[in-house]
Amino acid sequence: MSKLEFTVHCPVCKMTKVDRSLLFNYRGIDHYFCSSQCLDRFKAHPHLFVGDPKHGLSPKQKGQKALKKRRIGFSEPIDEELKAVMEQSLLSLMGIESLLFEETFLYVTYDLLQVSLEEIEAAIDQSPGKLKSGVADRIKRGFIHYSEECELDNLAHLTSDHGHH
Ligand SMILES: [Zn+2]
Repeated sequence: MSKLEFTVHCPVCKMTKVDRSLLFNYRGIDHYFCSSQCLDRFKAHPHLFVGDPKHGLSPKQKGQKALKKRRIGFSEPIDEELKAVMEQSLLSLMGIESLLFEETFLYVTYDLLQVSLEEIEAAIDQSPGKLKSGVADRIKRGFIHYSEECELDNLAHLTSDHGHH
């Protein structure tokens, strides 16, 4: 174990610029975060980011990613102005790898270790963009949210024997 009493980078996204007010003590070590997004992610799944002597490095420490490519549907075509607003809001999230807008769709690639579809949708909801919201769309999204949570739990449990149930 390191003798450092606090981390010098955000353990979730590895950015070296951390906010000293975003502090979480985990197993006696203070961790600082770049954003509340990363802090929330860490609190929900610390084993994804911090290993232990028994199980070795965490998925993040091993440089692992869980890249997801999704197509997100909108209720109307995205014009240039709306596209610019949404790009700005989505790129302020950590873990977004690529964005491509095409007519009524957004093709997004992201690292599930850092950001989930639910968070991406929340960022879209705060912009003027309108997600397709038919029953089938909502059921499909709910299923993806659930399966992403399961995947994160599984990844965390591979390096942990005292996870949350
Ligand atoms: Zn971060």
